[in-house]
Amino acid sequence: MRAKFMDALYHTLCSQLPSHKQIVTLLEAEGEEVKELFDAADRVRASGVGNEVHLRGIIEFSNYCIKNCCYCGLRKSNKQLTRYRLTKHEILETAEKASSMGLKTIVLQSGEDPYYTGEVLAEMVIKLKSRLDIAITLSVGDRTRGEYQLFREAGTDRYLIKHETSNPSLFSRLRPGTNLQDRVERLTWLNELGYQVGSGCMVGLPGQGPDTLAGDILLMHRLGVEMAGIGPFIPHPHTPLSSYPGGGLEETMKVLAVTRLVLPQAHLPATTAVGSIHSDGRKLALCCGANVIMPNVTPMKYRPHYQIYPNKACLTDDTGDILDHLSLLITSLGRKVATDHGHSPNYKSLN
Ligand code: SAH
Ligand code: SF4
Repeated sequence: MRAKFMDALYHTLCSQLPSHKQIVTLLEAEGEEVKELFDAADRVRASGVGNEVHLRGIIEFSNYCIKNCCYCGLRKSNKQLTRYRLTKHEILETAEKASSMGLKTIVLQSGEDPYYTGEVLAEMVIKLKSRLDIAITLSVGDRTRGEYQLFREAGTDRYLIKHETSNPSLFSRLRPGTNLQDRVERLTWLNELGYQVGSGCMVGLPGQGPDTLAGDILLMHRLGVEMAGIGPFIPHPHTPLSSYPGGGLEETMKVLAVTRLVLPQAHLPATTAVGSIHSDGRKLALCCGANVIMPNVTPMKYRPHYQIYPNKACLTDDTGDILDHLSLLITSLGRKVATDHGHSPNYKSLN
């Protein structure tokens, strides 16, 4: 086992794509091997993307959703959730405040909410880009290719839409009415349209094991994604998956670390989800491959209602306090808060 692990690690560190079997071996690291894996990922992070940590402020602007994903608290069948939408004015004001605090990326995220038509979102992006020196990421789920094109032409720089799981039957069971093939096609469209594309998966989903997780990592490599959000599945009490166990910290860190080895130049966040299952979750993630944090800048009164999963980190802190706390955390690790937009290499902005 030890020889196999060393072989898989060495192979990957020589910039060769590991096989599915080798990735499974890395994910099954035990004892001392786990530390070796994390240290290797940290070194690859330093050489691939450097010591800076990028802060991307996320505005969760609507928790309405027409989808019924079995894992998510925003699913339309959850009648116990208080729904909200930010007005255009509130979105602008929130983004202005975040930008004035030095954030160089704003992520606009929501449930799948057709209330915000393609035109409305594109106008919003145009307005934000004309007023503020920021990169914009959209994360609003499934839209048509025409809408993705509209967002891109409006100046949207990045799009986040996780593939969630590379197991096609699990994908369709967990996301009723949708399939993995369509999701992969959307990721391909986004790439063709010139976005910096973000995918990712949850770790610890029911019925998922190292085999599927190795498939997740290889799929992200095949798609050439520039960002990958890897977070633990956290069961939500008002969903069909409420009684399943969630993903573990070490398991999530291993997937993150192997993803870093396979995608040395990708932007990998220390996710809010990993910070929600362990008080040091984000710090630990920064030490095994992550180089991004996404502080929540949503107006405080709405934050408790964006309950994708329970006990989400950052539900109470003021944006200024969160940023101070994160700066301290980052400098305590001998790293620096990035001051640029944090685009991926080779990215061409449209404005
Ligand atoms: N509606 C959009 C964006 C909001 S959901 C979309 O689905 O893409 C953003 C992410 O939250 C999803 O990609 C999913 O990976 C994550 N998520 C949802 N429910 C979760 C849960 N119970 N535990 C952990 N992550 C979850
Ligand atoms: Fe809606 Fe996204 Fe939650 Fe699915 S994961 S229910 S699309 S918010």
